[in-house]
Amino acid sequence: MLWQGRRESDNVEDERGSGGGGGRIVLGGGIGTVILVVLYLLLGGNPQALFNSQQAQLPQNAQYDNQAPHDEASKFVAVVLADTEDAWHAVFRQMGREYEEPKLVLFTDQTQSGCGFASGATGPFYCPEDRRVYIDLGFFNELQQRLGAGGDFAEAYVIAHEVGHHVQNLLGISDRVQAMRRRVSESEYNQLSVRLELQADFLAGVWARYTDRVKHVVEAGDIEEAMRAASAVGDDRLQYRSRGYVVPDSFTHGTSEQRVRWFRRGYETGDISQGDTFSARDL
Ligand SMILES: [Zn+2]
Repeated sequence: MLWQGRRESDNVEDERGSGGGGGRIVLGGGIGTVILVVLYLLLGGNPQALFNSQQAQLPQNAQYDNQAPHDEASKFVAVVLADTEDAWHAVFRQMGREYEEPKLVLFTDQTQSGCGFASGATGPFYCPEDRRVYIDLGFFNELQQRLGAGGDFAEAYVIAHEVGHHVQNLLGISDRVQAMRRRVSESEYNQLSVRLELQADFLAGVWARYTDRVKHVVEAGDIEEAMRAASAVGDDRLQYRSRGYVVPDSFTHGTSEQRVRWFRRGYETGDISQGDTFSARDL
């Protein structure tokens, strides 16, 4: 992917360094937090108090480094985010709507999101409450080293997938799925979650097409790289967080094959009306 020297988004909030080390946060987050919440509930406590006490130790928004990112990795993220902004502004304009850009928070190890405390170990996520994408750049190393799906376009796909969840939020799709949660069984809800995930892959494909056809920055092998990432990052690696405090989700993201199929469909059609994973009979 040709990305150097291109426009960088102003919407990156670099929290790295403000959260790293120093033993500022006692809990490890993730599973640790969940266990603690369960213990609190068993002991009759109010879990919100737990989160409040964690929040007190976390930096205020004022401490974000809102300067333009300086290192290569964060510059790359800012360029890809700018690409998603351009693509979605164009698509929303075609629909007669206005696209509202999300923020993207870079963090190290742990962060306090609008959806609660989160640890880098659970992977990138989008929080609909504060309309922010959260990414610990360590995930990209894992993508490369453990999942064998590295490369700049693979990383760009991950960002575009999370921005896809933001698009679903703006279009009211996430809300509709959330509303169904109370009315359906757990397994039916899991099915809806899979469809939501596959649609985010489709939307990442729509972004890839725009970036390829309009900007001419996609190089040979890039699309395959994204599909390799879509296929490697199955199940619960890319976490979609629902409302409320962060609890690792147990639903799946669909099979690798399904993820690749919907990404490819978005890439090949570029047509948002082709991405209705909710009425598709075959995923
Ligand atoms: Zn997702």
